[in-house]
Amino acid sequence: MKKQFAVIGLGRFGGSICRTLSEQGAEVLAVDIDEERVNEFTPIATHAVIADSTDESVLKSLGLRNFDHVIVAIGDNIHASILTTLILKELGVKKVTAKAQNDYHEKVLRKIGADFVIHPERDMGVRIANNITSTSVLDYLELSDKHSIVEVIAGKKMDGKTLSDLDVRANYGVNIVAIKEHGYINVSPRADQTVHEGDILIIIGSDPDIDRFKKQMLDNE
Ligand code: ADP
Repeated sequence: MKKQFAVIGLGRFGGSICRTLSEQGAEVLAVDIDEERVNEFTPIATHAVIADSTDESVLKSLGLRNFDHVIVAIGDNIHASILTTLILKELGVKKVTAKAQNDYHEKVLRKIGADFVIHPERDMGVRIANNITSTSVLDYLELSDKHSIVEVIAGKKMDGKTLSDLDVRANYGVNIVAIKEHGYINVSPRADQTVHEGDILIIIGSDPDIDRFKKQMLDNE
């Protein structure tokens, strides 16, 4: 059976989640208090309804407890976001992802049982700052507040060395999980694989270990 998703709040963030899930062929119920927003999503989502998500009886009648994953993407109205998340968890929704506006909001959402809390502006800010401060880092994904995955370009210091020569796990505590070379990606590189200048390495580790690796192993860091 197809997974069922519901997106509550169809602003820029919720709207883009709703659009992408629909494009991927998922069943999506789109909910917003604002009629115009709902009309915009009627041709996109499986169902689109005008409703106030802070009203428990409305969420019950929509059958939200049977959905696999509900995304609470209410923006500025922190009160409505908290109340909606609380009701959804009380109804027994297994997975609730909620968007937080600030650290305090995030803390409350976690306390009342949100399974995932996202902070899109802050997370994107961190990601972009990490990308623009480094010429060798191509991309950056925060896994937790202490761990990340980074995509870096191998430079002269690594050129011609095998993964076992580099031994980054012992030396820096990070793992090279994939190597991209001439458009081809090897997702389980062996110890005898040679790294060439210009290869793209995908590295996972704790942030301090990744920093040490970047400073010592990459050019221009
Ligand atoms: P973004 O920053 O993602 O653009 P917005 O604040 O523009 O966020 O969008 C949040 C959406 O949530 C709006 O479309 C708003 O109508 C909707 N919303 C706010 N409160 C409720 C509520 N109680 N029930 C349902 N939808 C709500």
